[in-house]
Amino acid sequence: MLTNPRDRAWVEVQADALLRNVSTLQQVVGPGSRLIPMVKADAYGVGLSQAVQILETTNPWGFGVATLDEGLELQRLGVIYPILVVSPLPPASTEAAVEAGLQLGISNPEALSLVTDAAERVGRVAEIHIEIDTGIGRAGFNWKDASSWKYDLDHAVNLGARWVGSYTHLHSADEDHDTVLEQWTRFQEALRQLDVPDSVLIHIVNSAGALRFPELATSAIRTGIFLYGGRAGVGLPDPEPVVSVYARVIHIRQAHAGDTVGYGATYRAEANECWASLGIGYGDGIPRLLGNRGSIVIHGCRAPIIGRISMDVTVVNISEIPNVSLGDVATLIGSDQDEQITVDDVAEQADTIGYEILTGLSPRLPRIWKGLDEQ
Ligand SMILES: *Cc1c(COP(=O)(O)O)cnc(C)c1O
Repeated sequence: MLTNPRDRAWVEVQADALLRNVSTLQQVVGPGSRLIPMVKADAYGVGLSQAVQILETTNPWGFGVATLDEGLELQRLGVIYPILVVSPLPPASTEAAVEAGLQLGISNPEALSLVTDAAERVGRVAEIHIEIDTGIGRAGFNWKDASSWKYDLDHAVNLGARWVGSYTHLHSADEDHDTVLEQWTRFQEALRQLDVPDSVLIHIVNSAGALRFPELATSAIRTGIFLYGGRAGVGLPDPEPVVSVYARVIHIRQAHAGDTVGYGATYRAEANECWASLGIGYGDGIPRLLGNRGSIVIHGCRAPIIGRISMDVTVVNISEIPNVSLGDVATLIGSDQDEQITVDDVAEQADTIGYEILTGLSPRLPRIWKGLDEQ
């Protein structure tokens, strides 16, 4: 564990585990499917620049982001691969995105005319991926009336837009479900009505979709969570853990029966106890729901979180664990000797998903990458 004694808490990221998760996915879908790693939301919280530096060594098809600023940031980092903005942009962002040469997911006729207008104004070719809504409902042209908006698409192409790709997004690939096949059928039906040229890149599956239905991995796959060590779905292979979260002991207190801890005094010592305060809290992205519910590992032993988590501090009961000193390191996510806490363990305890835990880790926590320099 590489540690800066001055850090009160930090996130450690394993570059080699990320690379092994890429290989696992690639092996599952076969060499015919190119990867579009999703690096939105600071690469799911692990740190965009380092994640991209690593992922570029795998020669991906391109990178996926959700916003204009994320796309521009990738360009500032020197990325030369295609950058696809998968989420619809607010209309006023369109021109800057086209001018920068980002590839845009397009979900409605208005967006089509915005990109063609913008392309003309800035003197660039707009590169577009047509998103088809086969059930996600949040974005995409409705699969049912593909024939009715085919005219708008043809018009945009005639005006010079380059139709690079077409995609749909699965809504339940993480729960083994017939809806995946239903969405696939709807997508094929829409593609048939659109007369898609062979040159158009077709991409359907996310991490869960790729693992559960590798046969639906077309020429490209858009994957995020599995790369970063989050479970893609129940019953699917586990990724290698990529992210650990550590915090130091910043205060130790001998407590006596009746002593209370934290806001609301929701925990009360039953007898003599020993409490350790860790320099991490919900202001760092540790879910407040873990108060009186979750646990951490210190010196290879589990210690329960007691009382409410506050913004900067989390208190744990170390009565059973000898020799804990100020400055010692506790593991909130990761392993320490035989004990392990995964991102998904924390997510379950906090009634959420690994995605929210990872992307919720706040900028206050330094990202310490291991194994990056050797790449
Ligand atoms: C975030 C995202 C993905 C990646 O999904 P994972 O479940 O993280 O693999 C794929 N496609 C779209 C449109 C997304 O927004």
